[in-house]
Amino acid sequence: MKTFISEKHQNEAIASLKTILSYPSYLQEDDETPFGKDIQAVLEKTLEITEGLGFRTYIDPDGYYGYAEIGEGEELFAVLCHLDVVPPGNLTLWDSKPFEPIIKDGYIIARGTEDDKGPTMAALYAVKALLDAGETLNKRVRFIFGVDEENLWRCLGRYNEKEEKATMGFAPDSTFPVTFAEKGLLQVKMRSQETSAYTLKAGGAMNVVPEDAAYEGEWVEAIAAELDQLGFKYERNGNAVNVKGKSVHSKNAPDGINAIVRLAKAIGAHDDNKVLAFLRDVVQEDARGLAIFGEVQDEASGMLTLNAATLSIEENETVLGLDIRYPVTIEKDFIVEKLETAAEKAGLIYEEYDFIAPLYVPLDHPLVENLMAVYQEKTGDMSEALVSGGATFARTMDNCVAFGAQLPQSEATLHGPNERVALADFYQSMDIYAEALYRLTCEK
Ligand SMILES: [Zn+2]
Repeated sequence: MKTFISEKHQNEAIASLKTILSYPSYLQEDDETPFGKDIQAVLEKTLEITEGLGFRTYIDPDGYYGYAEIGEGEELFAVLCHLDVVPPGNLTLWDSKPFEPIIKDGYIIARGTEDDKGPTMAALYAVKALLDAGETLNKRVRFIFGVDEENLWRCLGRYNEKEEKATMGFAPDSTFPVTFAEKGLLQVKMRSQETSAYTLKAGGAMNVVPEDAAYEGEWVEAIAAELDQLGFKYERNGNAVNVKGKSVHSKNAPDGINAIVRLAKAIGAHDDNKVLAFLRDVVQEDARGLAIFGEVQDEASGMLTLNAATLSIEENETVLGLDIRYPVTIEKDFIVEKLETAAEKAGLIYEEYDFIAPLYVPLDHPLVENLMAVYQEKTGDMSEALVSGGATFARTMDNCVAFGAQLPQSEATLHGPNERVALADFYQSMDIYAEALYRLTCEK
Protein backbone atom coordinates (compact mmCIF):
# COMPACT_ATOMS: atom_id res chain seq x y z
CA MET A 1 0.00 0.00 0.00
CA LYS A 2 1.32 3.43 -0.92
CA THR A 3 1.40 6.30 1.52
CA PHE A 4 0.02 9.38 -0.12
CA ILE A 5 -0.02 11.76 2.82
CA SER A 6 3.19 13.63 3.52
CA GLU A 7 4.00 16.05 6.29
CA LYS A 8 3.39 18.87 3.81
CA HIS A 9 -0.20 17.67 3.31
CA GLN A 10 -0.71 17.38 7.04
CA ASN A 11 0.52 20.92 7.61
CA GLU A 12 -1.53 22.36 4.76
CA ALA A 13 -4.65 20.58 5.97
CA ILE A 14 -4.21 21.92 9.50
CA ALA A 15 -3.60 25.46 8.21
CA SER A 16 -6.81 25.40 6.13
CA LEU A 17 -8.71 23.76 8.95
CA LYS A 18 -7.66 26.54 11.33
CA THR A 19 -8.84 29.10 8.81
CA ILE A 20 -12.35 27.68 8.51
CA LEU A 21 -12.63 26.92 12.23
CA SER A 22 -12.30 30.64 12.92
CA TYR A 23 -15.76 31.34 11.45
CA PRO A 24 -18.60 31.12 14.03
CA SER A 25 -20.74 29.38 11.42
CA TYR A 26 -23.80 28.47 13.43
CA LEU A 27 -27.30 29.34 12.32
CA GLN A 28 -28.10 33.04 12.68
CA GLU A 29 -30.67 33.86 10.03
CA ASP A 30 -30.67 37.41 8.71
CA ASP A 31 -32.22 39.34 5.82
CA GLU A 32 -29.39 38.91 3.31
CA THR A 33 -28.45 35.25 3.74
CA PRO A 34 -30.51 32.14 4.47
CA PHE A 35 -28.40 30.97 7.43
CA GLY A 36 -26.38 34.02 8.48
CA LYS A 37 -23.36 35.99 7.30
CA ASP A 38 -20.79 33.79 9.05
CA ILE A 39 -22.13 30.72 7.28
CA GLN A 40 -22.04 32.55 3.96
CA ALA A 41 -18.47 33.64 4.70
CA VAL A 42 -17.20 30.19 5.64
CA LEU A 43 -18.77 28.77 2.50
CA GLU A 44 -17.06 31.37 0.32
CA LYS A 45 -13.73 30.90 2.12
CA THR A 46 -13.85 27.12 1.76
CA LEU A 47 -14.54 27.40 -1.96
CA GLU A 48 -11.61 29.78 -2.24
CA ILE A 49 -9.38 27.19 -0.54
CA THR A 50 -10.56 24.43 -2.89
CA GLU A 51 -9.96 26.67 -5.92
CA GLY A 52 -6.42 27.13 -4.71
CA LEU A 53 -6.08 23.33 -4.82
CA GLY A 54 -7.22 23.21 -8.44
CA PHE A 55 -10.92 22.43 -7.96
CA ARG A 56 -13.69 23.99 -10.08
CA THR A 57 -16.21 25.59 -7.74
CA TYR A 58 -19.82 26.63 -7.71
CA ILE A 59 -21.79 28.56 -5.13
CA ASP A 60 -25.56 28.58 -5.07
CA PRO A 61 -26.58 32.21 -5.73
CA ASP A 62 -29.04 32.00 -2.83
CA GLY A 63 -26.33 30.77 -0.45
CA TYR A 64 -27.82 27.34 0.29
CA TYR A 65 -24.80 25.23 -0.70
CA GLY A 66 -21.61 25.17 -2.71
CA TYR A 67 -19.42 22.53 -4.26
CA ALA A 68 -15.90 21.94 -5.50
CA GLU A 69 -15.23 19.41 -8.23
CA ILE A 70 -12.14 17.91 -9.78
CA GLY A 71 -11.38 15.22 -12.36
CA GLU A 72 -13.21 14.12 -15.49
CA GLY A 73 -15.64 11.37 -16.30
CA GLU A 74 -19.25 10.35 -16.53
CA GLU A 75 -19.57 9.26 -12.91
CA LEU A 76 -19.76 11.58 -9.94
CA PHE A 77 -18.26 10.58 -6.60
CA ALA A 78 -19.59 12.80 -3.81
CA VAL A 79 -18.02 13.72 -0.50
CA LEU A 80 -20.94 15.07 1.53
CA CYS A 81 -19.71 17.57 4.10
CA HIS A 82 -21.11 20.41 6.17
CA LEU A 83 -19.58 23.71 7.22
CA ASP A 84 -22.20 24.81 9.73
CA VAL A 85 -21.68 23.98 13.39
CA VAL A 86 -23.79 23.97 16.54
CA PRO A 87 -23.49 27.06 18.77
CA PRO A 88 -20.66 27.03 21.30
CA GLY A 89 -23.02 26.61 24.26
CA ASN A 90 -21.92 27.73 27.71
CA LEU A 91 -18.67 29.61 27.16
CA THR A 92 -17.55 29.17 30.77
CA LEU A 93 -17.20 25.44 30.10
CA TRP A 94 -14.61 26.09 27.40
CA ASP A 95 -10.92 26.39 28.32
CA SER A 96 -10.24 28.33 25.14
CA LYS A 97 -12.26 30.41 22.70
CA PRO A 98 -14.48 28.17 20.53
CA PHE A 99 -13.77 30.08 17.33
CA GLU A 100 -10.07 30.73 17.91
CA PRO A 101 -8.54 27.33 17.18
CA ILE A 102 -5.51 26.37 19.21
CA ILE A 103 -3.17 23.40 19.22
CA LYS A 104 -2.41 22.10 22.68
CA ASP A 105 -1.12 18.78 24.03
CA GLY A 106 -1.43 17.17 20.64
CA TYR A 107 -5.01 18.30 20.05
CA ILE A 108 -6.58 20.91 17.83
CA ILE A 109 -9.38 22.53 19.80
CA ALA A 110 -12.32 24.57 18.46
CA ARG A 111 -16.00 24.18 17.63
CA GLY A 112 -16.19 22.11 14.42
CA THR A 113 -12.94 20.14 14.76
CA GLU A 114 -14.89 16.87 14.91
CA ASP A 115 -18.18 17.95 13.39
CA ASP A 116 -17.61 18.51 10.55
CA LYS A 117 -14.87 20.89 9.48
CA GLY A 118 -12.05 18.55 10.56
CA PRO A 119 -13.25 15.52 8.57
CA THR A 120 -14.02 17.80 5.61
CA MET A 121 -10.46 19.10 5.47
CA ALA A 122 -9.01 15.61 6.05
CA ALA A 123 -10.88 14.29 3.00
CA LEU A 124 -10.10 17.38 0.91
CA TYR A 125 -6.35 17.17 1.46
CA ALA A 126 -6.50 13.43 0.85
CA VAL A 127 -7.55 14.25 -2.71
CA LYS A 128 -4.79 16.85 -2.93
CA ALA A 129 -2.28 14.17 -1.90
CA LEU A 130 -3.52 11.82 -4.66
CA LEU A 131 -3.09 14.54 -7.25
CA ASP A 132 0.37 15.43 -5.95
CA ALA A 133 1.32 11.76 -6.29
CA GLY A 134 0.44 11.99 -9.98
CA GLU A 135 -2.68 9.82 -9.77
CA THR A 136 -5.43 10.31 -12.36
CA LEU A 137 -9.07 10.43 -11.36
CA ASN A 138 -11.36 8.20 -13.44
CA LYS A 139 -14.48 10.02 -12.31
CA ARG A 140 -15.36 13.45 -11.06
CA VAL A 141 -14.94 13.92 -7.32
CA ARG A 142 -17.24 16.55 -5.92
CA PHE A 143 -17.12 17.95 -2.38
CA ILE A 144 -20.64 19.11 -1.64
CA PHE A 145 -20.69 21.66 1.17
CA GLY A 146 -23.95 21.84 3.08
CA VAL A 147 -24.48 24.68 5.54
CA ASP A 148 -27.70 23.72 7.36
CA GLU A 149 -26.90 20.21 8.55
CA GLU A 150 -27.32 21.00 12.23
CA ASN A 151 -30.83 22.26 11.59
CA LEU A 152 -33.21 21.49 8.77
CA TRP A 153 -31.01 20.28 5.91
CA ARG A 154 -32.44 23.00 3.67
CA CYS A 155 -29.02 23.14 1.96
CA LEU A 156 -28.98 19.59 0.62
CA GLY A 157 -32.72 19.79 0.02
CA ARG A 158 -32.06 22.66 -2.38
CA TYR A 159 -29.02 20.93 -3.85
CA ASN A 160 -31.07 17.86 -4.71
CA GLU A 161 -33.71 19.98 -6.42
CA LYS A 162 -31.20 21.74 -8.63
CA GLU A 163 -28.01 19.73 -9.01
CA GLU A 164 -26.60 16.46 -10.21
CA LYS A 165 -26.85 13.54 -7.81
CA ALA A 166 -23.88 11.36 -7.02
CA THR A 167 -23.21 7.97 -8.54
CA MET A 168 -21.86 7.04 -5.13
CA GLY A 169 -20.03 8.67 -2.26
CA PHE A 170 -19.60 9.08 1.45
CA ALA A 171 -20.29 11.55 4.22
CA PRO A 172 -17.25 12.05 6.48
CA ASP A 173 -19.55 12.99 9.35
CA SER A 174 -19.78 10.01 11.65
CA THR A 175 -17.51 7.34 13.07
CA PHE A 176 -15.29 4.73 11.45
CA PRO A 177 -15.74 2.18 10.02
CA VAL A 178 -18.70 2.45 7.63
CA THR A 179 -22.30 3.23 8.54
CA PHE A 180 -24.20 1.34 5.85
CA ALA A 181 -27.69 1.57 7.32
CA GLU A 182 -29.49 4.44 9.01
CA LYS A 183 -33.10 3.97 10.01
CA GLY A 184 -35.90 5.97 8.46
CA LEU A 185 -36.90 8.96 10.55
CA LEU A 186 -40.49 10.07 10.78
CA GLN A 187 -41.68 12.76 13.16
CA VAL A 188 -45.38 13.37 13.50
CA LYS A 189 -47.88 15.36 15.51
CA MET A 190 -51.11 13.99 16.93
CA ARG A 191 -53.67 16.58 17.97
CA SER A 192 -57.02 16.84 19.57
CA GLN A 193 -59.09 19.98 19.66
CA GLU A 194 -60.64 19.81 23.08
CA THR A 195 -60.77 22.15 26.00
CA SER A 196 -58.61 21.79 29.04
CA ALA A 197 -58.88 23.38 32.48
CA TYR A 198 -55.08 23.50 32.80
CA THR A 199 -52.12 23.98 30.50
CA LEU A 200 -48.95 21.96 30.31
CA LYS A 201 -45.78 21.88 28.22
CA ALA A 202 -43.25 19.06 28.32
CA GLY A 203 -40.34 17.89 26.23
CA GLY A 204 -38.00 20.00 24.13
CA ALA A 205 -36.33 18.60 21.03
CA MET A 206 -38.01 15.86 19.04
CA ASN A 207 -34.83 13.78 19.10
CA VAL A 208 -34.65 13.47 22.88
CA VAL A 209 -36.56 11.27 25.33
CA PRO A 210 -38.08 13.78 27.78
CA GLU A 211 -36.52 13.86 31.21
CA ASP A 212 -39.16 16.03 32.88
CA ALA A 213 -42.90 16.43 32.65
CA ALA A 214 -44.56 18.73 35.14
CA TYR A 215 -48.19 19.17 36.09
CA GLU A 216 -49.49 22.11 38.07
CA GLY A 217 -53.07 22.29 39.18
CA GLU A 218 -55.83 21.07 41.39
CA TRP A 219 -55.17 17.32 41.12
CA VAL A 220 -51.65 17.56 42.37
CA GLU A 221 -52.30 15.51 45.55
CA ALA A 222 -54.02 12.73 43.67
CA ILE A 223 -51.36 12.64 40.96
CA ALA A 224 -48.58 12.49 43.53
CA ALA A 225 -50.38 9.62 45.26
CA GLU A 226 -50.76 7.84 41.94
CA LEU A 227 -47.04 8.35 41.16
CA ASP A 228 -46.20 6.79 44.53
CA GLN A 229 -48.48 3.89 43.72
CA LEU A 230 -46.83 3.38 40.33
CA GLY A 231 -43.36 3.72 41.85
CA PHE A 232 -42.42 6.56 39.46
CA LYS A 233 -39.84 9.15 40.48
CA TYR A 234 -40.99 12.74 40.80
CA GLU A 235 -40.32 16.01 42.57
CA ARG A 236 -42.96 17.90 44.47
CA ASN A 237 -42.97 21.70 44.47
CA GLY A 238 -45.97 23.21 46.19
CA ASN A 239 -48.81 22.94 43.72
CA ALA A 240 -46.75 21.13 41.10
CA VAL A 241 -45.37 17.64 40.49
CA ASN A 242 -42.46 17.09 38.13
CA VAL A 243 -42.14 13.54 36.89
CA LYS A 244 -38.51 12.49 36.36
CA GLY A 245 -37.54 10.31 33.43
CA LYS A 246 -34.22 9.39 31.89
CA SER A 247 -33.12 11.31 28.86
CA VAL A 248 -31.45 9.54 25.92
CA HIS A 249 -31.34 10.19 22.19
CA SER A 250 -34.59 9.20 20.47
CA LYS A 251 -32.75 6.57 18.46
CA ASN A 252 -32.06 4.76 21.75
CA ALA A 253 -35.54 5.33 23.16
CA PRO A 254 -35.83 1.83 24.70
CA ASP A 255 -32.90 2.74 27.01
CA GLY A 256 -34.62 5.86 28.33
CA ILE A 257 -37.53 6.57 30.66
CA ASN A 258 -40.20 8.76 29.16
CA ALA A 259 -41.45 11.35 31.69
CA ILE A 260 -44.36 12.39 29.45
CA VAL A 261 -45.81 8.89 29.27
CA ARG A 262 -45.37 8.45 33.03
CA LEU A 263 -47.15 11.70 33.76
CA ALA A 264 -49.99 10.73 31.41
CA LYS A 265 -50.36 7.46 33.32
CA ALA A 266 -50.47 9.25 36.64
CA ILE A 267 -53.02 11.82 35.51
CA GLY A 268 -55.02 8.78 34.50
CA ALA A 269 -58.68 8.89 35.28
CA HIS A 270 -58.64 12.55 36.29
CA ASP A 271 -58.67 13.75 32.73
CA ASP A 272 -60.37 12.20 29.71
CA ASN A 273 -58.16 14.18 27.32
CA LYS A 274 -57.83 12.00 24.21
CA VAL A 275 -54.10 12.53 23.78
CA LEU A 276 -53.44 11.53 27.38
CA ALA A 277 -55.59 8.46 26.92
CA PHE A 278 -53.64 7.60 23.78
CA LEU A 279 -50.35 7.93 25.69
CA ARG A 280 -51.65 5.84 28.55
CA ASP A 281 -53.35 3.05 26.62
CA VAL A 282 -51.59 2.87 23.26
CA VAL A 283 -48.11 4.37 23.42
CA GLN A 284 -47.57 3.10 26.98
CA GLU A 285 -44.06 2.69 28.32
CA ASP A 286 -43.13 0.80 25.21
CA ALA A 287 -40.49 2.46 23.05
CA ARG A 288 -40.98 -0.21 20.38
CA GLY A 289 -44.54 0.88 19.69
CA LEU A 290 -45.91 -2.66 19.64
CA ALA A 291 -49.52 -1.57 20.17
CA ILE A 292 -49.35 0.68 17.10
CA PHE A 293 -47.06 -1.12 14.70
CA GLY A 294 -46.81 -4.70 15.91
CA GLU A 295 -43.30 -6.08 15.92
CA VAL A 296 -41.27 -4.18 13.32
CA GLN A 297 -37.62 -5.06 12.83
CA ASP A 298 -35.20 -6.32 10.24
CA GLU A 299 -31.91 -8.12 10.06
CA ALA A 300 -29.98 -5.14 8.68
CA SER A 301 -30.97 -2.44 11.14
CA GLY A 302 -32.83 -3.82 14.14
CA MET A 303 -36.08 -2.68 15.67
CA LEU A 304 -38.37 0.28 15.31
CA THR A 305 -38.20 2.87 18.07
CA LEU A 306 -40.93 5.23 19.22
CA ASN A 307 -40.51 8.27 21.44
CA ALA A 308 -43.28 10.51 22.75
CA ALA A 309 -41.05 13.58 22.61
CA THR A 310 -43.26 16.57 23.24
CA LEU A 311 -46.62 17.32 24.79
CA SER A 312 -48.48 20.57 24.84
CA ILE A 313 -51.85 21.01 26.49
CA GLU A 314 -53.48 24.34 25.85
CA GLU A 315 -56.90 25.71 26.55
CA ASN A 316 -58.34 24.52 23.23
CA GLU A 317 -55.83 22.10 21.83
CA THR A 318 -53.55 19.25 22.87
CA VAL A 319 -50.59 18.27 20.69
CA LEU A 320 -48.31 15.27 21.02
CA GLY A 321 -45.00 15.00 19.09
CA LEU A 322 -43.81 11.51 18.21
CA ASP A 323 -40.39 10.51 16.88
CA ILE A 324 -40.25 7.19 15.05
CA ARG A 325 -37.11 5.50 13.70
CA TYR A 326 -37.95 2.54 11.51
CA PRO A 327 -35.84 -0.25 9.99
CA VAL A 328 -34.28 0.28 6.56
CA THR A 329 -36.19 -2.42 4.69
CA ILE A 330 -39.62 -1.23 5.86
CA GLU A 331 -41.72 1.05 3.64
CA LYS A 332 -42.67 4.46 4.95
CA ASP A 333 -46.28 3.92 3.78
CA PHE A 334 -46.62 0.98 6.14
CA ILE A 335 -45.56 3.12 9.10
CA VAL A 336 -47.83 6.02 8.13
CA GLU A 337 -50.82 3.73 7.67
CA LYS A 338 -50.37 2.26 11.15
CA LEU A 339 -50.09 5.72 12.68
CA GLU A 340 -53.14 7.00 10.85
CA THR A 341 -55.16 4.02 11.98
CA ALA A 342 -54.07 4.49 15.58
CA ALA A 343 -54.85 8.22 15.42
CA GLU A 344 -58.29 7.60 14.00
CA LYS A 345 -59.12 5.04 16.67
CA ALA A 346 -58.06 7.47 19.36
CA GLY A 347 -59.96 10.35 17.81
CA LEU A 348 -56.79 12.33 17.03
CA ILE A 349 -55.69 14.31 14.00
CA TYR A 350 -52.55 12.98 12.35
CA GLU A 351 -50.01 15.32 10.77
CA GLU A 352 -46.53 14.66 9.36
CA TYR A 353 -43.86 16.97 10.78
CA ASP A 354 -40.55 15.77 9.37
CA PHE A 355 -39.30 12.85 7.37
CA ILE A 356 -35.84 11.62 6.38
CA ALA A 357 -35.63 8.52 4.24
CA PRO A 358 -33.55 5.59 5.49
CA LEU A 359 -30.07 4.88 4.22
CA TYR A 360 -29.19 1.41 3.11
CA VAL A 361 -26.31 0.21 1.00
CA PRO A 362 -25.88 -3.56 1.27
CA LEU A 363 -22.72 -4.91 2.86
CA ASP A 364 -21.65 -6.59 -0.38
CA HIS A 365 -21.88 -3.37 -2.41
CA PRO A 366 -18.42 -2.47 -3.80
CA LEU A 367 -18.52 0.91 -2.04
CA VAL A 368 -18.99 -0.69 1.38
CA GLU A 369 -16.56 -3.52 0.64
CA ASN A 370 -13.82 -1.12 -0.45
CA LEU A 371 -14.25 1.30 2.42
CA MET A 372 -14.32 -1.52 4.98
CA ALA A 373 -11.20 -3.11 3.48
CA VAL A 374 -9.25 0.16 3.51
CA TYR A 375 -10.24 0.90 7.08
CA GLN A 376 -9.34 -2.58 8.28
CA GLU A 377 -6.00 -2.64 6.47
CA LYS A 378 -5.06 0.80 7.73
CA THR A 379 -6.08 0.33 11.36
CA GLY A 380 -6.11 -3.41 12.02
CA ASP A 381 -9.51 -2.87 13.63
CA MET A 382 -11.84 -5.60 12.40
CA SER A 383 -15.09 -4.13 13.82
CA GLU A 384 -18.16 -4.67 11.72
CA ALA A 385 -19.92 -2.05 9.62
CA LEU A 386 -22.33 0.06 11.64
CA VAL A 387 -26.04 0.63 11.79
CA SER A 388 -27.19 3.95 13.19
CA GLY A 389 -30.50 5.51 14.07
CA GLY A 390 -28.90 8.91 13.63
CA ALA A 391 -28.76 10.85 10.41
CA THR A 392 -26.05 12.06 8.07
CA PHE A 393 -26.16 13.57 4.61
CA ALA A 394 -25.45 10.08 3.26
CA ARG A 395 -29.22 9.65 3.36
CA THR A 396 -29.76 12.39 0.82
CA MET A 397 -28.40 10.39 -2.14
CA ASP A 398 -28.41 6.78 -3.24
CA ASN A 399 -25.28 4.68 -2.87
CA CYS A 400 -23.80 6.87 -0.17
CA VAL A 401 -22.66 5.83 3.29
CA ALA A 402 -21.19 7.57 6.32
CA PHE A 403 -17.44 6.96 6.69
CA GLY A 404 -15.43 8.40 9.61
CA ALA A 405 -13.82 10.44 10.77
CA GLN A 406 -14.08 9.53 14.44
CA LEU A 407 -11.74 6.66 15.29
CA PRO A 408 -12.50 4.11 18.01
CA GLN A 409 -9.77 5.50 20.27
CA SER A 410 -10.93 9.12 20.02
CA GLU A 411 -13.54 10.50 22.37
CA ALA A 412 -16.67 12.11 21.00
CA THR A 413 -16.50 15.80 21.87
CA LEU A 414 -18.77 17.10 19.14
CA HIS A 415 -21.55 19.47 20.23
CA GLY A 416 -19.91 19.83 23.66
CA PRO A 417 -17.42 22.26 25.20
CA ASN A 418 -13.73 21.97 24.22
CA GLU A 419 -14.55 20.15 21.00
CA ARG A 420 -11.24 18.72 19.81
CA VAL A 421 -9.48 16.14 17.77
CA ALA A 422 -6.06 14.59 18.33
CA LEU A 423 -3.66 15.56 15.56
CA ALA A 424 -2.57 11.93 15.29
CA ASP A 425 -6.19 10.86 14.69
CA PHE A 426 -6.70 13.64 12.18
CA TYR A 427 -3.65 12.50 10.23
CA GLN A 428 -4.76 8.88 10.40
CA SER A 429 -8.15 9.84 8.98
CA MET A 430 -6.39 11.66 6.11
CA ASP A 431 -4.44 8.51 5.41
CA ILE A 432 -7.60 6.37 5.37
CA TYR A 433 -9.45 8.82 3.12
CA ALA A 434 -6.55 9.00 0.68
CA GLU A 435 -6.38 5.23 0.26
CA ALA A 436 -10.17 4.94 0.03
CA LEU A 437 -10.42 7.66 -2.61
CA TYR A 438 -7.49 6.13 -4.46
CA ARG A 439 -9.26 2.76 -4.72
CA LEU A 440 -12.66 4.22 -5.59
CA THR A 441 -11.81 7.12 -7.88
CA CYS A 442 -8.35 6.67 -9.47
CA GLU A 443 -7.03 4.91 -12.58
CA LYS A 444 -5.01 1.85 -11.60
ZN1 LIG B 1 -22.10 16.68 11.49
